[in-house]
Amino acid sequence: MGLSRRDALKVGVAAASVGAMPAIAKEKEVGSEYYCKEIATAVPKKQKERPRVVVVGGGWAGLSFAKELKIQVPHADVILVEQRFEFMSCPMSNLWLVDKVELEYLMHDYLQAARENGYTYFQASATGIDKKRKLLKTSNGSIEYDYLVLAPGIDYDYDLWTHGDKELESRLRNEYPAAFMPGSEHMTLKKKIHNFKGGTFVLTVPRGNYRCLPAPYERACLIADYFKTNGIKGKVLLLDEHEGITIKDHGFSTAFKELYNDYIHYEPNSVIQRIDLDKKIIETEFDEWHFDDAALYPPVRAGRILEIFGLAKDTIYNRKEANIDIFTYEAKGQENKNIFVCGDARPMGFSKSGNTSNTEGKNVAREVAARILGKKHEWESPVTVCISDVSYNPERGIFIHSEYAFNPKTNQFQFATPVTDEVWKGKEGITNAKAVYGWAESMFADMFQGGFTKGYIPEIAKEK
Ligand SMILES: Cc1cc2nc3c(=O)[nH]c(=O)nc-3n(C[C@H](O)[C@H](O)[C@H](O)COP(=O)(O)OP(=O)(O)OC[C@H]3O[C@@H](n4cnc5c(N)ncnc54)[C@H](O)[C@@H]3O)c2cc1C
Repeated sequence: MGLSRRDALKVGVAAASVGAMPAIAKEKEVGSEYYCKEIATAVPKKQKERPRVVVVGGGWAGLSFAKELKIQVPHADVILVEQRFEFMSCPMSNLWLVDKVELEYLMHDYLQAARENGYTYFQASATGIDKKRKLLKTSNGSIEYDYLVLAPGIDYDYDLWTHGDKELESRLRNEYPAAFMPGSEHMTLKKKIHNFKGGTFVLTVPRGNYRCLPAPYERACLIADYFKTNGIKGKVLLLDEHEGITIKDHGFSTAFKELYNDYIHYEPNSVIQRIDLDKKIIETEFDEWHFDDAALYPPVRAGRILEIFGLAKDTIYNRKEANIDIFTYEAKGQENKNIFVCGDARPMGFSKSGNTSNTEGKNVAREVAARILGKKHEWESPVTVCISDVSYNPERGIFIHSEYAFNPKTNQFQFATPVTDEVWKGKEGITNAKAVYGWAESMFADMFQGGFTKGYIPEIAKEK
């Protein structure tokens, strides 16, 4: 007697549960769908005397949070839930695109970070939440928590370009990835740059507060330098949806003019209206641009799980942002007590940068620690430090460092202590470019090694 498709499916599920996933408690059938009711995780049961803090997202914010919380509350049971198997840094990746650093320089070990700092790394995707039972659901089972911190970073918001055309979105993601989320997108972009035969290479700067303000301008400079160095007859067309360069304007605009007059065409006010991938045309309000290849960076929004978990609100551009108290980072609503959001997923207008997320992760850890220990914590400003290279041959850089202050008139945070060095010419530019390695290495040490580190304090900030 032959097996029906339904029987075969059941056998398949049972076989899988015997082999790869012995932890499946029960599979349930609903109509034609199969799903696991509950998966037992490898995480031990929560102990009463140890507050359990679960953090979702092992990026710059989540890693910094987990380490700092263990420093502040050594008896806390901290679990870092991260979907990736290893860490890849976006900062410094522009230099990797042009072979200035090895891939190894960007890659780091979650297990080392967890071992050396006394917390648990749990590889899984967070998929749901039971707020009443304080249970985080993940692809590898549910985890009980006392405090939950979400640091999922960003997701792309293609809808502002594609207006619901999912076929176009899928093609954009696959054929012209932005490379603003680490991994395959970066690998694809590197191949595109290295295989480029000449013509127009389009990069975009999306509207709103996007991840890493200077990165698209830095990337334009480094790709242009690559074309120049390798004798490629190519031009970078940088379509900016803003009115002008959003940060370190003087440094970037002088570099565009003086170093890359023949290699970069910068076009502000280029809000994208239509993209035709077959004809390779991008239409903006005033122009029609033809291109040969591209890496198209769309607007961004907070990581999608915030919406799934009922923790998001609508905003103008970044349409789904975290609905949190902007001083304590705690999610709004009684049912969301003891749930926090930090890092690039925050709604505040801070620069969406690694340094900002690293310092903010620590600030939020001190907020959660204070609650655990029954103390009070005063708001602390995150710190933005950002060094961008305008060329790699030779290496020349520009720089910004700032904290933030709340302006009650505008109801917004703004730069409070900006110190910039936008001189990329001569010795100063070379010193700035060297500093980027010191910055990156001290940040990696801060996140992945044990022991107390202060993060990076640049000379120029110490002087002022
Ligand atoms: C090209 C480029 C250059 C940059 N250069 C700089 C620079 O020079 N200096 C600087 O300060 N910043 C820089 N940045 C910005 C910096 O990378 C980000 O601001 C920083 O990564 C934000 O940290 P985060 O922790 O909020 O998010 P992320 O680092 O993105 O971490 C979020 C993590 O959450 C995980 N996650 C998401 N959803 C789930 C889920 N459901 N379950 C489990 N895990 C989940 C993701 O896998 C990810 O690991 C750059 C960015 C880019 C793209």
